[in-house]
Amino acid sequence: MSHFLNQFATIESFRQGLDQGQFTSREVTETLLKEIEAQSVLNAFIDVQAELSLAQAALADEQIGRGQAGLLAGVPLAHKDVFVTEGWKTTAASKMLANYVSPFDATVVRALADAGTVSLGKLNCDEFAMGSGNEHAAAGPTLNPWDHSVVPGGSSGGSAAAVAAGLVLGATGTDTGGSVRQPAALCGVCGIKPTYGVASRFGMIAYASSLDQAGVFATNAQDLALLLDAISGFDPRDATSVQTCHGVANAAGRILSEYERALKQMPQQKPLAGLRIGVPKEYFGAGLDPKVAQAIEAALAQFEALGAKRVDISLRNTDSAIAAYYVIAPAEASSNLARYDAVRYGHRSEQYNDLEQMTARSRAEGFGAEVRKRIMIGTYVLSHGYYDAYYLQAQRVRRLIAQEFQQAFSSECDVIMGPVNPTVAPPLGVSTKDATAEWLGDIYTLGVNLAGLPAMSVPCGFAPGHQSEALPVGLQIIGNYFDEGRMLAIASSYQQVTNWHRCRAGGGA
Ligand code: GLN
Repeated sequence: MSHFLNQFATIESFRQGLDQGQFTSREVTETLLKEIEAQSVLNAFIDVQAELSLAQAALADEQIGRGQAGLLAGVPLAHKDVFVTEGWKTTAASKMLANYVSPFDATVVRALADAGTVSLGKLNCDEFAMGSGNEHAAAGPTLNPWDHSVVPGGSSGGSAAAVAAGLVLGATGTDTGGSVRQPAALCGVCGIKPTYGVASRFGMIAYASSLDQAGVFATNAQDLALLLDAISGFDPRDATSVQTCHGVANAAGRILSEYERALKQMPQQKPLAGLRIGVPKEYFGAGLDPKVAQAIEAALAQFEALGAKRVDISLRNTDSAIAAYYVIAPAEASSNLARYDAVRYGHRSEQYNDLEQMTARSRAEGFGAEVRKRIMIGTYVLSHGYYDAYYLQAQRVRRLIAQEFQQAFSSECDVIMGPVNPTVAPPLGVSTKDATAEWLGDIYTLGVNLAGLPAMSVPCGFAPGHQSEALPVGLQIIGNYFDEGRMLAIASSYQQVTNWHRCRAGGGA
């Protein structure tokens, strides 16, 4: 039963198999545990606990047997290792938290468990979600299922790789500056980061709290809608969480939630008639691989064929997003990561003479190089005398960027489209050698987080890599606040007339 999940186009079709008794959730879980083992070279999983997964499968089988199962019952997925999980390890891919097991579940994890999903375990990522290639990870990088010599993208690299390799149907991730969209693009799967506040941050290990947002991965837009429905909603334990979903009953009396409804309401003929797609010229500047640009252009032409209208726009501060983000994110990180003091939990050095030395040595040993660099930058930009010049200035740029997007959405376009990454997946080793290149690669994703907007990545073609003929390219769709339903519907219309999302790593559609 190799690549068992690749036979299902959607979660819905997988569920039919379960409902019709073709297989049980227990059987699927056992198969997938074997496949995860067989594909351990990918290094996508940090922790697998067969008994815990099988217990969730038994629950799903029971619900399905009673005819009381929700849409996600028995659906195999896995969680980025920055979501705390009861039972499984939560390490944030850091030596600092090696062997840490949380006494509670993150809200997102609990919501998906309550929906009946089966977790196959915890997924590799960049340490504390800092990175774009999944190479800054204590247990080494995850490999890209399309070509083991290139990165899967980061920071949620394990999530994208696990979906792309057919090890799960969906995965959670976090996106502080692109960490859902980038790995989704480089691994040829779909990923969405909703509006800031739509999904609870409770139990999500904090990196940069004003930017951090949970998101989901799947192979298609329809599945993203189901998963996003499950993780969104107000949570009193997250002060920045917002209420969004309003269920409405369909003709059969079943409650369709917001995102699912948006998909079902799309007209069949010219579904995108009248839609104005803003295409920022700054997203097609120097540094963009011409072959990636070609794939994006082809996707835009496809949207025009579906009835949409292309509008050229300008987001002049696109470049400045890099500077602003790499001041604000490290500033918040330096504060958030101060909690790892080796007293309450976390790695503790074996050799020290006093408290100060214990903290200093434990932090120096527990954090990897990239995390230490960010803590130092963050501490510097917040320090007396530099605060105004760096941190305050960056906050002003942040406001300009948010205003620029609002300007575009209020008068020029309904959604914005462009590339996610300037290139296809780079070879392993590049991001650790050339830090500037890694940060510059975030150019098209950071602005969205600074503004708090929703954005997604959708597979839209292939371009040559350093040694392979074809690596996946991701199209970015950016929406206005709380416009996830429309974005998913747009992506779904595109996927009804294209096959990119059906191509699987290792061949076959
Ligand atoms: N690449 C960005 C960073 O390194 C974004 C990471 C993220 O979204 N978690 O900070």
